Amino acid sequence: MSIENNIAKYREALPAGCLLIAVSKTQPEALILEAYEAGQRAFGENKAQELQKKYDVLPKDIEWHMIGHLQTNKVKYIAPFVHLIHSVDSLKLLVEINKQAQKVNRIIPCLLQLHIATEETKFGFSEEEVLTLLNSYEFKTLNNISIAGLMGMATFTDDQLKIRQEFRSLRAFFKKLKNEQLPSTVSMKELSMGMSGDYAIAVEEGSTMVRIGTAIFGARH
Ligand SMILES: *Cc1c(COP(=O)(O)O)cnc(C)c1O
Repeated sequence: MSIENNIAKYREALPAGCLLIAVSKTQPEALILEAYEAGQRAFGENKAQELQKKYDVLPKDIEWHMIGHLQTNKVKYIAPFVHLIHSVDSLKLLVEINKQAQKVNRIIPCLLQLHIATEETKFGFSEEEVLTLLNSYEFKTLNNISIAGLMGMATFTDDQLKIRQEFRSLRAFFKKLKNEQLPSTVSMKELSMGMSGDYAIAVEEGSTMVRIGTAIFGARH
């Protein structure tokens, strides 16, 4: 299968309200351009400096999604252009994104990453921590960020039921937040969940953004 065919296949498989993000981390620019020529515009990366380098040389109408763990000292590399940061996992990081956004006169859209997997290695907030964050005084002073929704990664397992339950609990929290009185910078529109191995379950459980890497580009370099 070519990249072009893979993109077409996922476009067809996804419901209208679900965005395909082509995860191009470690992939060379030539392959990203192949996907671009096939009409793909949303790409995901997990390293700030790699993201900046690709932004510099690739077409400017690409929407770049930061999906990996982001260190505060790296925010400055992507603040001028990043389309959406999926992986916000602390107040400290949010404060830094706000600061860098202010410098470049932007409001940077973010998702809050929830820790939904049983694996200990995955980053993210608990539900309780999200509620504390959104109700904190400090959060309300952050005028150069907006929160557009939530992101989560399921446990890496063959147990489909477990994956489904994790996505379902994230969706339930998303819907719960939607119905709450939230600060004006918060709106629960996007639910980023699903990767190559589990995107079909994620879509069934209400994903609005799937992040697909290897199933589009093949193995990583
Ligand atoms: C690498 C990565 C993906 C894509 O994974 P694939 O299994 O290659 O589809 C999705 N989300 C995040 C956060 C990633 O780091």
